[in-house]
Amino acid sequence: MAQLPATLEKRKNKMLISKLTKGFNVNGFTSKAAAIRYLKSKGHNICTLLAQPESNPKVAKNGKVVEVMTCALHLAPFNLSGFQVCAKASQGCAAACLHTAGNPAYMDQKEKSRIAKTRAYFLERDAFMAVLFFEMLAHYRKYFVKQGVEIAFRLNATSDLPFESRKVTIDGKPVLLMEAFGKIQFYDYTAFDNRAIKFAKGDMPKNYHITFSKKEDNDQEVARVLWHGGNVAMVATKDIYKHVLEQGYIALPSPTGSPIKYKAVDGDAHDFRPIDPSNSVIILKAKGDAKTDTTGFTVRKLYTGKAQTLSAAIAAA
Ligand code: SF4
Repeated sequence: MAQLPATLEKRKNKMLISKLTKGFNVNGFTSKAAAIRYLKSKGHNICTLLAQPESNPKVAKNGKVVEVMTCALHLAPFNLSGFQVCAKASQGCAAACLHTAGNPAYMDQKEKSRIAKTRAYFLERDAFMAVLFFEMLAHYRKYFVKQGVEIAFRLNATSDLPFESRKVTIDGKPVLLMEAFGKIQFYDYTAFDNRAIKFAKGDMPKNYHITFSKKEDNDQEVARVLWHGGNVAMVATKDIYKHVLEQGYIALPSPTGSPIKYKAVDGDAHDFRPIDPSNSVIILKAKGDAKTDTTGFTVRKLYTGKAQTLSAAIAAA
């Protein structure tokens, strides 16, 4: 088992919810059941929002690799629900989206449930956030408090929304959701370079980790995120995946034009991105439809010329 990084071990964030006694009120609801009843009365057929940590094979690897149980929220990606949740989605990423992972026999039901959740998020935000809060609290109590197991939340498992600015009103006081669970790690992938750069600059909540996703149409954003010290995930062919991990680095274009060497990390070993070294490139092996991708989403070619380090490039810029 890998150890959690020191930054996680030494978290000093306050755990706002640990101060709360039983019977508090979130967005006007005193329990998950009350918020669910309200949602159902408005036609939103929802029972639960977060998937169990074991229910996503990719995320479940965390339990084996880094002793962290990740609880994920799956919404309906792009505008499947009639509401856009990932405005920066590309043709290539949509085809490789985690949304379609899992047993096809359950896909229809899964899609209906994700559409219902997404519609509730947009149409009944207060009740949705209350359900989310109470479920997060239940996971926190079950794993973190009772079993002493580290947990994490991945709220954008199949969306790309600014959860860092989502608030809940607890007993009349508005607080950021991530602040309420200050000791718990949140993490996501994003295709918004401004969010990834904000994270790299330390301007996101301390317990939120963001990895930028490379797609077929965002090379300039990739260069910018890495230049600012952020991390980037990319899908590559099996041969490139192997080669890059063997050599330990990958050369990518920079905003100045000259390629730079970045540390390469095996993204298939686990999905708990907060333990990746900063300013690295996370390589994932193409799976499913990504193997035959023709959009350019799957990296099939490497830069083979001379590359410099980021610090040398910054000094020369
Ligand atoms: S942006 Fe993410 S969630 Fe949206 S379609 Fe692409 S891979 Fe799926």
